[in-house]
Amino acid sequence: MKVVGFHFINNVGDKMSSNCNHDCASCSSSSTCASKIEKEKANEFSSIKKIYAVISGKGGVGKSMVTSLMAVYAKRQGKKVAVIDADITGPSIPKVFGATQKAVATENGILPVLTGSGIEIISINSLLQNDSDPVVWRGPVIAGAVKQFYTDVLWGDVDTMFVDCPPGTGDVPLTVFQSLPIDGIIVVTSPQELVSMIVEKAVKMAELMHVPILGIVENMSYFKCPDCGKQHFIFGKGKTEDTAKKYDIKNICRLPIDSSLADMADGGQIEFAEVDEMEKFVENIIK
Ligand code: ADP
Repeated sequence: MKVVGFHFINNVGDKMSSNCNHDCASCSSSSTCASKIEKEKANEFSSIKKIYAVISGKGGVGKSMVTSLMAVYAKRQGKKVAVIDADITGPSIPKVFGATQKAVATENGILPVLTGSGIEIISINSLLQNDSDPVVWRGPVIAGAVKQFYTDVLWGDVDTMFVDCPPGTGDVPLTVFQSLPIDGIIVVTSPQELVSMIVEKAVKMAELMHVPILGIVENMSYFKCPDCGKQHFIFGKGKTEDTAKKYDIKNICRLPIDSSLADMADGGQIEFAEVDEMEKFVENIIK
């Protein structure tokens, strides 16, 4: 598959030892350890202040919804915002923003696509000729593409970059953490999920990478009655709070099941969304 100006690197380091104590000097795996893999650097035309990775245990819990809402609110708070859609096999960021134009390649690199409010985005769908073309690459190639989104795109000055990671805690998200200078992680869950297991995995991964988990978003947490305004916690309440307490994660955001949000995302209108819970969450997290 030919993609404008992209050559895919096949370079994912070894995994780190599961009993890492961060003392590289005494560790027999230190020469191949993932934590020691050098971070990628953005190109000379880009200056990126903070990078936040948005992760989830599985697909469909609303990771892209949360990434895009966080980007929208960071932008409303006056930040210069960019989003990398690292969910290569299930890209949805361009669609949610209604920014389906193609990225343009220049001599110096690739220009990101701009949303209506001026958020910069890059996604595999910004590069593929047809959005419906399947991406049938193996993990290392996908990870290489994500790195190149960071290194080969002409981002300019960015205050806040969000990375919409592939679902799960496997090789690709791990490579994103290894190779991009991530400042913090946001975990997205849904109440049907085994929250404690997902968060525990994310916490372990984050500890290995020395990256803090800044917050948990419990998406589709409750349904708000349109007639009386009462909140109904259809799948139960409390699990996320307990887990956050256990791991000392201070920021929790609960988002309702809201068909108007789904309509806005499906119609590329997410920049018009009003979600009070998200406003506070972003204020607390994005510095
Ligand atoms: P993921 O990135 O985790 O695969 P998405 O963000 O693409 O998940 O969300 C999956 C589907 O659920 C999308 O159709 C999206 O519009 C919808 N969705 C996500 N969050 C909500 C919500 N809070 N209320 C209603 N629909 C939602």
